[in-house]
Amino acid sequence: MTSKPTPVHDFETRQIHAGAIVDSQVGARIGPVYQTAGYLFSSFDDAEARFAGTTAANVYSRSDNPTNAAAARRLADLEGGVAGVLVGSGQAAIAATLFALASQGDHILATANLYEGTRQMFQGSLARQGLVVEYVPESASDEEWASKVTERTRAIYTETIPNPKNTVVDLERLAGVAHRAGVPLVVDSTVATPYLCRPLEWGADIVIHSTSKWLAGHGSVIGGAVIDGGRFDWAANAERFPQLTESPRPGVGSFVERFGASAFSVYLRSVIVLEYGPTVPPTSTFLLLHGVETLSVRMDRHVANAQVVAEWLDAHPAVAGVDYPGLPSNPYHERAKKYLPKGAGSIVSFDLAGGRPAARRFIDALSLISNMTHIGDVRTLALHTGSTIHGRLTEEERLDAGITPGLIRLSIGLESARDIIGDLEQALQRATEE
Ligand SMILES: *Cc1c(COP(=O)(O)O)cnc(C)c1O
Repeated sequence: MTSKPTPVHDFETRQIHAGAIVDSQVGARIGPVYQTAGYLFSSFDDAEARFAGTTAANVYSRSDNPTNAAAARRLADLEGGVAGVLVGSGQAAIAATLFALASQGDHILATANLYEGTRQMFQGSLARQGLVVEYVPESASDEEWASKVTERTRAIYTETIPNPKNTVVDLERLAGVAHRAGVPLVVDSTVATPYLCRPLEWGADIVIHSTSKWLAGHGSVIGGAVIDGGRFDWAANAERFPQLTESPRPGVGSFVERFGASAFSVYLRSVIVLEYGPTVPPTSTFLLLHGVETLSVRMDRHVANAQVVAEWLDAHPAVAGVDYPGLPSNPYHERAKKYLPKGAGSIVSFDLAGGRPAARRFIDALSLISNMTHIGDVRTLALHTGSTIHGRLTEEERLDAGITPGLIRLSIGLESARDIIGDLEQALQRATEE
């Protein structure tokens, strides 16, 4: 059983040192990339023991890779969890988590404002697999949330800072709702990163990241991570989670009996990832680890730039509205101060008064800022989501989701704020020219 380590060092130190591989062969200071499919078994008995799981040694890189394990330990440490699992993308992290928690006919409650890729998975592929995701507005009362829980409910799912609308979620309240219902709170915290918010400290049970974004930080890798908080009482809710609380085969204890607080993450890695195979290449993880080492430094700059740009946009006559919780006028400002005291992330969305025609002129006039779908890059990125990510929705669905025709999403990078604003200024000028 893994117990939660008490951090002896500060976040800035742990992002560099936690979980690092100490190479005993040549003393390499940087953890090696274990680019290998498999591992040599030392004997007949060793092979048998590894397959039986009675030794912790690696078996096969689909689920066991020391480079990936090192990054999983580091991210778990930074989030304050007991263990982590690395997978091939943020989408894979979400799918694997829900496959681990729920099966056909089961039910997930989710806040209504979610990353569009997640929403499409919930309504498309997961629905086809028989998983029912029901949306509840985050603002619904505790009673309304409770009234939606059924005996088939397996999780409450939300995002710390939903993407693309920055409607900061009240994690502490939702954790209470989830625990009274006997299910874990699962939080996609990609946009916050563990530097800005650690959902486990507010009662969440499982944290998901697209590591492709700020964690890797340089726009060069795709990856995902799932962090196990280790505190959810699976045994007390055994009828909902037999995969963790019942013996998988005669003579073998349940995951909870064998792995205690890490039962969920061991199940996720040794059953779900092993069987479905959403493996991340260790070369990608090597780049992720380099990104994580500078996370705090980059995030401080990301949020400082985002604040300056948001304030500048807010005062611009061509801009009808700015969505950034760091602005005192934002309805989520107080909540952001509670959950995001170091800064409200670096997604700044704004609405062009001139609607879609102005948005087209604005996007085509950008020069320093990249027009692309991605977030959390050192580069500043812009996207008209209504014609791209949200292009498949009807106009009515878009407006319901707050995606107005002139909405531009910016992921503020690490360039000088002066240069970012310079490019925005000339593009806004062009946007207002008929
Ligand atoms: C990008 C993103 C994902 C998906 O991650 P990928 O690594 O692109 O698969 C999931 N959730 C959020 C909030 C994201 O921003």
